[in-house]
Amino acid sequence: MIKTYRFRLYPSAEQERLLDQQLDLCRELYNAFPEQRILAYKTEKRINYNYQQDQLPELKNAFPEFRNIYSQVLQDVARRVDRAYENFFRRVKEIKQGKHRKAGFPRFKPVNRYRSVTYPQSGFGIMENGHLKLTKIGILRMFMHRDVEGEIKTVTISRDRVGDWFASFSVQSGLPGIHIENTELQDQGGLGIDLGITHLATMSDGTFVDTPHFLVKAERQLKRDQRHLSRKKKGSNNRGKQKMIVAKRHRNVKRQREDFVHKVSNDLASNYGLLSFEDLNIAGMVRNHHLAKSISNASWSMLVQYTTYKAGNAGKVVVQVNPKGTSKTCSRCGWVKDDLKLSDRIFHCSDCGLEIDRDLNAAINIHRLGMMEVGRGTPEVTPVEIGALPAMATPVVESGSPRL
Ligand SMILES: [Zn+2]
Repeated sequence: MIKTYRFRLYPSAEQERLLDQQLDLCRELYNAFPEQRILAYKTEKRINYNYQQDQLPELKNAFPEFRNIYSQVLQDVARRVDRAYENFFRRVKEIKQGKHRKAGFPRFKPVNRYRSVTYPQSGFGIMENGHLKLTKIGILRMFMHRDVEGEIKTVTISRDRVGDWFASFSVQSGLPGIHIENTELQDQGGLGIDLGITHLATMSDGTFVDTPHFLVKAERQLKRDQRHLSRKKKGSNNRGKQKMIVAKRHRNVKRQREDFVHKVSNDLASNYGLLSFEDLNIAGMVRNHHLAKSISNASWSMLVQYTTYKAGNAGKVVVQVNPKGTSKTCSRCGWVKDDLKLSDRIFHCSDCGLEIDRDLNAAINIHRLGMMEVGRGTPEVTPVEIGALPAMATPVVESGSPRL
């Protein structure tokens, strides 16, 4: 089985500049390779991975900035293009067999849709102090919150939607099982979003968003100040002062949360044609006194509101699906695990063997339900085979969207 461990990186300013540059160049290369292939496709000359890989030294001569990138990282870009094309040709074949109606040509990746580079075999190492050494970048501070068990196969360095950096280690462990490749899902133009406690939002493409630490801290302080206020005598001077403090902090927390949710919702609304959330009203997420939950709760509904509003303005579609069964249904084969417990973080499918993060499984199911809702998917379709989404014409925006 292949397992993924993901750790936060803390690059220095100079390292971040190098990482940004590396990501940009790889994206340019990714976008240039298909052009070469499209030309070849039209002239019926097939260009394959080896051909493009062989051109890398030439590329470095013509564009010396590519010398700053470890050669295997560049080879991996060629491999990604290759995979995208293999899928394309497979789908073209399957259209003839009537399995699909459409085969999306591999898409051009804008800045926000190209977020990671991979070191496929070498060029990386974990230092004794738990930091990460990357060839051509340096030694990066890494927060390794758990040990990596098994043999590391690849390291993927990614930048998330709020600009934080992560290293994901793919590890081969002895257990049999199946690993879901999420790279294809990112090409679908749609995204399912599971709202939760472990992560504020888990996306069907395998990424997630957490509540920023400063916001959690500010919320905690606010709760403390509110408790102090309730202990002060009514009508006293001190109570008046404390009331001011609480009101001020309240305003700050609100502003910080809004800023954060704006960032995330902007990213969602500008990068995806179809966004599917679970319907929070049906999900019965009532207010409760557990702090972590109440913080997430406030951000959840704000995130759905803002995204719905912005996506609607941009002619995109947001749907809210019935969350019933999204956690306990296998996102690959549809088998239902009736005895799924709240504490089960990994979903194990007894039918097809899928082992997948619980929230990611739910997010993929939410994505599929959203596709069905707008008539672009069927229950039998597994997420990695869902067809590319055509541009949406009629936005499904809830009536009475909030005014922002
Ligand atoms: Zn299954």
